[in-house]
Amino acid sequence: MNREENLKQLVDSSKTWDIAVIGGGSSGLGVALDAISRGLSVILLEKADFAKGTSSRSTKLVHGGVRYLAQGDVGLVFEALKERGKLLQNAPHLTQNQPFIIPIFSWFDRVQYSVGLKIYDWMAGKLRLGKSRFISKEETIKRLPAVKQKGLKGGVVYHDGQFDDARLALAIAQTADDAGACILNYTAVKGLVKNENGKVTGLKIRDELDRKNYTLKAKMVVNATGVFADKILQMDKPGCDKMIQPSQGIHLVMDLDFLGGKDALMIPKTKDGRVLFAVPWHNKLVVGTTDTLRKKAKLEPEALEKEIDFVLETAAGYLTKAPTRADVKAVFAGLRPLARPKEEGAKTKEISRSHKVIVSESNLVTLTGGKWTTFRKMGEDTVNYFQQITEAYLAPSASLDMKLHGHTTKIPTGHWAGYGSDAKAIQDLAKSQAELAEKIHPDFPNLMAEVVWAVENEMAVKVEDVLSRRIRMLILDAQAALDSAEKIAKLLAHLLQKDEGWIKQELEDFRKVAEKYLIKG
Ligand SMILES: Cc1cc2nc3c(=O)[nH]c(=O)nc-3n(C[C@H](O)[C@H](O)[C@H](O)COP(=O)(O)OP(=O)(O)OC[C@H]3O[C@@H](n4cnc5c(N)ncnc54)[C@H](O)[C@@H]3O)c2cc1C
Repeated sequence: MNREENLKQLVDSSKTWDIAVIGGGSSGLGVALDAISRGLSVILLEKADFAKGTSSRSTKLVHGGVRYLAQGDVGLVFEALKERGKLLQNAPHLTQNQPFIIPIFSWFDRVQYSVGLKIYDWMAGKLRLGKSRFISKEETIKRLPAVKQKGLKGGVVYHDGQFDDARLALAIAQTADDAGACILNYTAVKGLVKNENGKVTGLKIRDELDRKNYTLKAKMVVNATGVFADKILQMDKPGCDKMIQPSQGIHLVMDLDFLGGKDALMIPKTKDGRVLFAVPWHNKLVVGTTDTLRKKAKLEPEALEKEIDFVLETAAGYLTKAPTRADVKAVFAGLRPLARPKEEGAKTKEISRSHKVIVSESNLVTLTGGKWTTFRKMGEDTVNYFQQITEAYLAPSASLDMKLHGHTTKIPTGHWAGYGSDAKAIQDLAKSQAELAEKIHPDFPNLMAEVVWAVENEMAVKVEDVLSRRIRMLILDAQAALDSAEKIAKLLAHLLQKDEGWIKQELEDFRKVAEKYLIKG
């Protein structure tokens, strides 16, 4: 993906795009992918970096949602299980089959979870990832060596998918770009253009890096801005009711040995009636999440002290060694773009996680809610409105079986897996120059060659793009990322032809963000 090349396509203001997508998170990328699969011309505009918002802050599960099944949202679970299975086939380099164990402390729970998960297995049909089953106390301890043993009666094992969210976002962007879509990061939508009938016909946008303004024409405009959807809706109809209720979820990242083994732990009922996961990911343990109503939509939300305490306390109830604040390598928070409930005071865990597509009087199409796992179906359902809006022919969706960028049957080993078929080219780059074969940080396997690759092929333009979303060091170990920032900034400055002043500013910008991922005291 080449940002400069894609920007050139904005210069010709007479071009009319079939679809212009606002937002480069999972929702917007799903729309772009589906649109390109039907042969439409697509432009996607992301004001920051791809997946900078909620889409890099998930629990990293490609799942049907065991919890939604318990809540009786059967349709959502069927849909998500199908998408889960297809995603594991289309992006095997970025996803994996992850066994989860629910520790069992009563016979009632054994029956309840065994039956529930058998239904979950059955609902996945041919796309099932493995059979759920009850395992003995001994096997549970063998597989989860650090689980609390007092009162333990055994465990129920089930399977779901796991993924690297920011890198999957990038792979979707690359797939769409490879197929001819114009994909741009650091390009913000500043206004809607309408015709004399009040219908949206284009966008006013700004390149956030060189501050240039552009106007573009589009037959259909999609607002896929997650928790920021109300801002675009206000551009469309100033003073309209708010649609989104942001709900925050946080995760704590710690050393893998707090759990031990390769299996994930699923705690089915926390004090607030939710579920909590402790999942091995990139050689660390990711523990979360919470559900806290927040008033404001923020691109860089911060974990609340009470959320950190809640996750630590809940985990301590199930682990032999209770993790403390000092054990936390990084904390990250994300905002769910939930549909605002009609009644005041409704609990967020009761708000449906299904997605919604809303068409305004002006023909602005807003996609909201949903989850990462169903991004493709969300895209398909949105693009289906193209015919209604333009009265033009719309080819059937072909995104269900589209292989994503990097797809390969020979998955490289170790951290190279996530690059899929690109891994070999990066390894060759590392061999070409001694400095590029150096590690970015002694505790991480990533090489400096990956930084060059990120800039030249993955549209990384800032230190944070590299350390947070091309490689995931910021959310795995915030101090390690801070310690690596200078090295990255210098290499970026060399590659992008920037001066000392740029390096200083980048380091300052990164420090401000990264400090939010460090836990205090
Ligand atoms: C804590 C937590 C855990 C989760 N875990 C899971 C999970 O394990 N599995 C799962 O399937 N789902 C999970 N989800 C849900 C999933 O992460 C979200 O549903 C999904 O990421 C939302 O994506 P989005 O594209 O709608 O929003 P975002 O990712 O926030 O993307 C919106 C984008 O729009 C951009 N934007 C805003 N305004 C403009 C503008 N004016 N111009 C251009 N761009 C703009 C923003 O910069 C942003 O990048 C989780 C959610 C949370 C909060």
